[in-house]
Amino acid sequence: MPDARPAGDDAAMRHTRYGWWLEEAGPVEATAPVEGDASADVLVVGAGYLGLWTAWHLRQLDPGVDVLVLDAGLAGHGPSGRNGGFVSTLWDDVPILRDRVGDARALEVARASERGVAGIGAWCDEQGVDAWYRAAPTLLVATSEAQLASTREGVDACAALGAPDEIRLLTADEVRDRCDAGFLGGAVIRTSATVQPARLALGLRAEALAAGIRLHERTPVRRLGRDGTATTARGRVRAGNVVLAVNSTTAAFHGYGLAHAVASSHLVLTEPVPDVLEDLGWTGGEPIADGRTLLHYMRTTPDGRIAFGWGGGRMGFGGRRTARLEVDPAAARIARDDLLRFFPQLAGRCVTHAWGGPIDVSPTHLPIFGSRGRVHHGFGFTGNGVGPSYLGGEILARLALDRRDELTRLALVDPDRKLMPPEPLRWAGGTAIRAALVRADAAEDAGRRPDPVTRLVAGLPRRLGLRLPR
Ligand SMILES: Cc1cc2nc3c(=O)[nH]c(=O)nc-3n(C[C@H](O)[C@H](O)[C@H](O)COP(=O)(O)OP(=O)(O)OC[C@H]3O[C@@H](n4cnc5c(N)ncnc54)[C@H](O)[C@@H]3O)c2cc1C
Repeated sequence: MPDARPAGDDAAMRHTRYGWWLEEAGPVEATAPVEGDASADVLVVGAGYLGLWTAWHLRQLDPGVDVLVLDAGLAGHGPSGRNGGFVSTLWDDVPILRDRVGDARALEVARASERGVAGIGAWCDEQGVDAWYRAAPTLLVATSEAQLASTREGVDACAALGAPDEIRLLTADEVRDRCDAGFLGGAVIRTSATVQPARLALGLRAEALAAGIRLHERTPVRRLGRDGTATTARGRVRAGNVVLAVNSTTAAFHGYGLAHAVASSHLVLTEPVPDVLEDLGWTGGEPIADGRTLLHYMRTTPDGRIAFGWGGGRMGFGGRRTARLEVDPAAARIARDDLLRFFPQLAGRCVTHAWGGPIDVSPTHLPIFGSRGRVHHGFGFTGNGVGPSYLGGEILARLALDRRDELTRLALVDPDRKLMPPEPLRWAGGTAIRAALVRADAAEDAGRRPDPVTRLVAGLPRRLGLRLPR
């Protein structure tokens, strides 16, 4: 029975810090904070996907290694437990990769990124974790002529690498066959899946604990020395090697201040609407993203809900945690309004939940892994971390054990350094650019060319050598 409150009704939409996925996955009992001094072979700071996959792969590579994981809050309660659940590769980034590292190395990275999609599915099967893993190709859809043109960039780049099946153009009719929502056309990315993100994060947490990995929650690390010493509120942790896996707060650590910027993304969720999905013919479980720079992304759930996200939230300042990056009613309202614009069939249906979280924006749009002394880092997923964090965990585990192989030689590891501008310039500039991108996306959706000032400001990142999508 549909909820009587209409989808456009603000009162019906509950803004939650942790989102519906974590509510659905159920509560966890926190592990104890670390007390006093401690030591480990490898200390992992941060227990999102990246930290937990690193811990998991460390144990796979060396079952005897003593791994200690610290998290400032609860494991998996950051973006890892509340994202859109798209499990993606880096094929979409091939145009950027070719520019930066050439065709051969771009191909290596794109192929290696498939490990996440396959590996997460296999891991869920092997460990008996029901994370709602569903393999399905991703639809990249266009809602304007400008987006149609940008879709071709990825298609052409894959073809140029000799991998034309990885991203293929779709006609408007072919898109309509998969989801009849008036899209102008698009493309399909062959290798991808969806998960219930919190079930995956908490499944990883549970399996890590069962494997004897030590996890202490509610233990923020305040400082990190290159010698492998971490300072917490209650003491020091000494480790042979440290893995820094703290996502958008990386920039708060010494030496990482210019490593990335912070933006935010917000999701809204409908009540179950299986009849609407049936009418749209959107029953194949395909994740869908449009071609905007500040993209819309949408997927379905097994009980027939639509989760709909918008990547246009506010900018963060440095590596600070700010409430508006987590719960921003204004950004959530835009996402809700856009959802109704995309799917007018939802009129009269209830949008039940809204939530958000920070995004670690890489200067190159690509995740970055590497080492500084005994500290090994991973950050910069730029809104695509679910699949790539699996590969990231494999890389960081190898770096921490000093086992070099073809994964540690990938172009994502210790890439040519590219830095973000310092604060407050980064925040002020990022905020102005974000506003221009919102205006440019809206103008193009309305079939208009953005005005010259908007074009100038929206084009600034490229002129500064920074890459945003499109
Ligand atoms: C709304 C939203 C939607 C998204 N949708 C998608 C999607 O559909 N597909 C996709 O691929 N990606 C998506 N992403 C991005 C994805 O969620 C992230 O890239 C991914 O979860 C990053 O994992 P992580 O382990 O690096 O970070 P996190 O999950 O943020 O984990 C980092 C952990 O570090 C801890 N920490 C931070 N500072 C400290 C400290 N000083 N000491 C100790 N611990 C600390 C935090 O508490 C946290 O648990 C989305 C993100 C958001 C916000």
